[in-house]
Amino acid sequence: AKGMGRNNYQVYQAVSEESNQQRIALESNLRKAEDNGELRVYYQPQIDVESEDIVGMEALVRWEHPELGMISPGFFIPLAEETGLIVGIGEWVLRTACADAYAWQQRYGLRLRVGVNLSAVQLRQKSLPKMVADALSSSGLDPSSLELEVTESISVKSVTNLMENLDALHEIGCQIAIDDFGTGHASLDYLRRLPARRIKIDQSFVRNIGVDPDDEAIVKATIDMAHSLKRDVVAEGVEIEPHLRFLREHHCDEVQGYLFCRPLPAQAFDRMMAERQRL
Ligand code: C2E
Ligand code: CA
Ligand code: CA
Ligand code: CA
Repeated sequence: AKGMGRNNYQVYQAVSEESNQQRIALESNLRKAEDNGELRVYYQPQIDVESEDIVGMEALVRWEHPELGMISPGFFIPLAEETGLIVGIGEWVLRTACADAYAWQQRYGLRLRVGVNLSAVQLRQKSLPKMVADALSSSGLDPSSLELEVTESISVKSVTNLMENLDALHEIGCQIAIDDFGTGHASLDYLRRLPARRIKIDQSFVRNIGVDPDDEAIVKATIDMAHSLKRDVVAEGVEIEPHLRFLREHHCDEVQGYLFCRPLPAQAFDRMMAERQRL
């Protein structure tokens, strides 16, 4: 048993040394990803439950690594946050999303809204509202068409400038959405203090519609509470018809999920919009 323990230790060390090297390599690659044109913004439509119209889309970043292929944000965003690279990447995503949204509004004559995720690191930056205002004016996009998604796991207390920045962004005319609603421990505090127009019910609750009556009760209560406070509700991770049926029955405003569409590269999103309009 002693020998085994030692082996395990050696294996563990080898793995962690290798992953440390991989990490360093990945970090230096990530540093160059934007300049090398390896970042992509994918778009996932948001659908009005009543009309079934596409009313907006969420911008989701991807990294097309030359050797490793498409890397998902769940993997590289944490690294980007630790290294501060998220500030540059986040700005690039925002500028790209504003430009794409403006082009689609012009082409399709719709008031499409675009949602962009903000990291805690970005929300701490004093220069954030100025950067956002500049991205809006250089793209031509109306501020009311930009929605900034702030995840509930960000603590109001520990992030300096958070409230000031959110108030300033609200002042500019942007919309604020509370992302991953219900998963943090500050849902109600957030709802009370943030100038948020919309909340996004986390997919961990939506997934359990038809499975767990407790989660169904949470979804229903969240929608009712949000509506009492004059906030709109988006449910994310809507994968199957019964999810949609439940959400429609309980007056959820908008849905987003694989049932309608996976996140698409900009070109494919554009083609989908063109095809829908031809109907
Ligand atoms: P999120 O903001 O909660 O985004 C929703 C995630 O759920 C996306 O994963 C999306 O592809 C996925 N999704 C959409 N519909 C469904 C569905 O029906 N079923 C399931 N199982 N999943 C669905 P993605 O694109 O991998 O992004 C993961 C997370 O990475 C995002 O979670 C967000 O927190 C972060 N992220 C993505 N893009 C950015 C960005 O530009 N900046 C920052 N700071 N974070 C980003
Ligand atoms: Ca989001
Ligand atoms: Ca979310
Ligand atoms: Ca999430």
